[in-house]
Amino acid sequence: LPGPDVTALTRASVRATLPRPAAASDKYRRGVVGVVAGSDQYTGAAVLAVGGALHAGAGMVRYAGPSRPVGQVRARWPEAVVTELAEPSIDDVGRVQAWVLGPGLGTGRWARELVLRVLATDVPVLVDADGLNVVAHDVSLLRRTAPVLITPHAGELARLTGAARGDIEAAPLAHARAAAAELGVTVLLKGSTTVVAEEGEPARVNGTGTPWLATGGTGDVLSGIAGSLLAQGLGARDAGSCAAYLHGLAGRIAADGAPLTAAAVAEALPAAIRSLDEES
Ligand code: AMP
Ligand code: MG
Repeated sequence: LPGPDVTALTRASVRATLPRPAAASDKYRRGVVGVVAGSDQYTGAAVLAVGGALHAGAGMVRYAGPSRPVGQVRARWPEAVVTELAEPSIDDVGRVQAWVLGPGLGTGRWARELVLRVLATDVPVLVDADGLNVVAHDVSLLRRTAPVLITPHAGELARLTGAARGDIEAAPLAHARAAAAELGVTVLLKGSTTVVAEEGEPARVNGTGTPWLATGGTGDVLSGIAGSLLAQGLGARDAGSCAAYLHGLAGRIAADGAPLTAAAVAEALPAAIRSLDEES
């Protein structure tokens, strides 16, 4: 797959790019990420996206959602600052440096309203899953001044661009590139091969993953990681690249030759980050 306009992600490049806290840092300066995900039907996506964000080094994770996922996020992650939403508004969530938008959100009126409000902010947004299914009806919603990083699998990208899912799976690099140009966003196309594409830049391919990652919820963890890195100040291309690399590595650590769970991928992230500094 690598060629003139595509590079393979390396441990050295991720190690050099990943933010580390400065001696005089504090939780706000390390980056505050807001997670708008989950619904009363899909509670686990909220828990997993928050888990990814927490383990990827943000100084603070704010979660906003309806009562059922709020209860589960509170129970699982006391570290998160949680706002229960009675209305689909983010006005009471507090200041964040980036948003994670979409996992498990649903596609009804509630979800559509939240998608509009998050995309109307002036900070970077990671859009995944139902967030992408909502904007598929009007992809011009993705055009905004602050950066947008999208993390579709082939089926989600097919709904955004109209390309056939099988064609995307057969040529992920070409389709990720075309989508980045057409939609005006940074594209992290997930699958057995994960590609990060941005118009005018060489594409990047990640090789750290494992097919054990093909299980429910791992994509939600990836969203949390990428949003966390956006909040820590990385650009969309670097945030997507580091997230894909670390998520794959954490998957390998969590699996170690046996089935993994998505929550275990989130919990293996510190070990993956630590391993960047090991001698090879
Ligand atoms: P999602 O499609 O949102 O559930 O996300 C699934 C995650 O698992 C993505 O990060 C994919 O790249 C990863 N994944 C799925 N299938 C494979 C595979 N065969 N090999 C490596 N990674 C995979
Ligand atoms: Mg997904």
